[in-house]
Amino acid sequence: MENSKGFFGIYGGSYISEQLQAEMNKIEKAYNEIKNNQRFLEQMQYIRRTYQGRPTPITHAKNLSKKIGGGQIYLKREDLNHTGAHKLNHCIGEVLLAKFMGKSKVIAETGAGQHGVAMATAAAYLGLECEIHMGKKDIIKEKPNVLRMQLLGAKIISVDKGQQTLKEAIDSAFESYAQDYENSFYCIGSVVGPHPFPTMVRDYQSIIGTEAKEQMIFETGALPDAVVACVGGGSNAIGIFSAFIEDEKVKLYGVEPLGKGDKVGENAASIAFGKDGILHGFKSKVIMDENGEVAPVYSIASGLDYPSVGPEHAFLHSIKRAEYVQIDDKECLEAFYLLPKVEGIIPALESAHAVAYAMKLAKETSNDYKILVNLSGRGDKDMDYVVEHYGMQ
Ligand SMILES: *Cc1c(COP(=O)(O)O)cnc(C)c1O
Repeated sequence: MENSKGFFGIYGGSYISEQLQAEMNKIEKAYNEIKNNQRFLEQMQYIRRTYQGRPTPITHAKNLSKKIGGGQIYLKREDLNHTGAHKLNHCIGEVLLAKFMGKSKVIAETGAGQHGVAMATAAAYLGLECEIHMGKKDIIKEKPNVLRMQLLGAKIISVDKGQQTLKEAIDSAFESYAQDYENSFYCIGSVVGPHPFPTMVRDYQSIIGTEAKEQMIFETGALPDAVVACVGGGSNAIGIFSAFIEDEKVKLYGVEPLGKGDKVGENAASIAFGKDGILHGFKSKVIMDENGEVAPVYSIASGLDYPSVGPEHAFLHSIKRAEYVQIDDKECLEAFYLLPKVEGIIPALESAHAVAYAMKLAKETSNDYKILVNLSGRGDKDMDYVVEHYGMQ
């Protein structure tokens, strides 16, 4: 899909300082060395099987499908990963790579704390130091995840510059990394950033699609007609899409957060509303204001509010291999409240966007139409917030 410089069509690549480029080249070289190495692959399989809880199952959402009365919905249960989401798939991979490169410390930023918790978990298990940068405001807002990270032995760096949220946390993590390239490794939380991260994180997440394809054939005797996943940076979506890209009959739907509406600042639908631009070292669709500055974004699901998107998604959109659709906060909440009642599964607010779109698709399709949804994470982290703001429905 990508060329040797990490370009997916015109998207991706690497737009960074010379010094950082030298580090990225080392990471790329090390990654190429281990990605087909039998010992490394076996170690990864072993960790997935005995620690992470893979393979995760596929659940036929029979009650939900019956209630809608059209297509059949199947859920790929990434919520059943250790730590409750797909993020551990790439965190384990990145920390293994850091270890292979002889690093003693991993550094990452976190917004809502999900990436931080998965990083702290992988680092604890693999015996590396872990430093997590987090905006001061987010630290106050996301207390349970801060406590989790601390219990897992991570060092939390409170960032009190600017807005004290994700953007400043990224800057702070980069600064810390730049001060110690020798011993540290920067772990990006999605299929974003300079080459080789979008490729590498995709490869680590591709286990979702590989398993799901085999499981769908085993359970139903056929490939799904459609695959649906939510898109923030795009790692869970590309992870499940990757196994189906060459099966042209399988429709791929990436679901972006429409938030409160289509005005700048009300959503985080980067493909729908973004323009070609460069952010965080790569080229993709970027949501900008009228002056061409990166605009503020919003979604009820904090894991989806990123003003850009992985370059491979921008490319799949440009060649029309995948379709990118939008679900707003209200539709997301309907799915969030319904799924637990009919299937006994509380979805993450991020994943509820994918479920909501699958429900729309099921309504328009017939009984033998199979819709595979990536249920990227569980919703325990969101319960307090949702019930406090929207009540018990
Ligand atoms: C972080 C997160 C996402 C968004 O990240 P992607 O890279 O777009 O997958 C989606 N779902 C859950 C549960 C998350 O924690």
